[in-house]
Amino acid sequence: MSISNPRISFELFPPKTEAGYKKLAETTEQLARYNPDFFSVTCGAGGQATKVKTVELVDRLITQRYAVTPHISSINATRSSINKLLEYYRELNIKQLVIIRGDLLEKGRKTTSDFNYAHELVSYIRQTTGNLFKIIVAAYPEFHPEAGNATSDLFNFKQKINAGADAAITQYFYNSDSYYRFLESCQQYNINVPIIPGVMPISSYGKLKRFSTICQAEIPQWLDKRLLAYHDDPVSFKAFSIDVVSKLCTELLALGAPKLHFYTLNLMDSVQCILKNIDEHKQVYEALVY
Ligand code: FAD
Repeated sequence: MSISNPRISFELFPPKTEAGYKKLAETTEQLARYNPDFFSVTCGAGGQATKVKTVELVDRLITQRYAVTPHISSINATRSSINKLLEYYRELNIKQLVIIRGDLLEKGRKTTSDFNYAHELVSYIRQTTGNLFKIIVAAYPEFHPEAGNATSDLFNFKQKINAGADAAITQYFYNSDSYYRFLESCQQYNINVPIIPGVMPISSYGKLKRFSTICQAEIPQWLDKRLLAYHDDPVSFKAFSIDVVSKLCTELLALGAPKLHFYTLNLMDSVQCILKNIDEHKQVYEALVY
């Protein structure tokens, strides 16, 4: 663990318009100055059109010579479509992938896929391409909403690691205890890959509530009520949310987080402020520890 100069990476999503791409190009240029390990690119779990968008953004980032980690969802994926995609990414010299199942459109609805769960796709990629790609999977310190219980979710997580994943990025959370406890459980289950916290800066109360309802990430009551109180005061809202997430990042690094992965939502402002604060907190922390 290094609280000094932590390693970082940034998640991006494919814009819908050319104007969106133009804005994103400015954002990535600014974020690239922090020397991230990679930019990851999300994929839609829906039809072919959403998957094409991922490839389009991956192509553009590669042209700009960034290190890129595409996400691949197993939903609606066949062995043949995965073979083609892997071959394409191999030609682009992509070294790393994030492999996820994707969200089911309707609870319990079966998808037309050769892979029911992420671990099956991880296993298939290892069988067909060996160690060509590093594989990152998703982890849930507050547990996945569909999981029957914490134990079965940890067991299912371990299946992904046994299938050949090299590292995991977590769902976002605002309670560092959940990460610490998750690391403890991983040790107990003999899961020894890096568990990288996924960090979600808070840019809008409405968006945060919407995302958190979908993925069931907890917004602690103290945070929820304070954010709501700043609802009509965007300056204080921003200052408060940046302070909260900066302190969370510093705590996570102190707990042993190997690096930080930012869910940027294609925005750079909050991320930049958070990175500056981590740097300042780091100096206070080091003065206390050493
Ligand atoms: P899985 O690991 O397959 O797990 C899904 C559920 O099934 C869990 O409850 C698990 O406990 C259970 N399970 C697993 N194996 C078994 C089994 N053998 N038997 C019974 N139950 C089992 N979504 C997108 O659509 N696009 C993205 O780009 C995207 N990127 C993400 C990146 C990160 C870092 C994270 C944390 C999430 C991302 N997601 C993305 C969201 C993700 O797709 C959803 O959380 C999805 O519901 C689960 O994906 P998974 O890969 O964790 O699934």
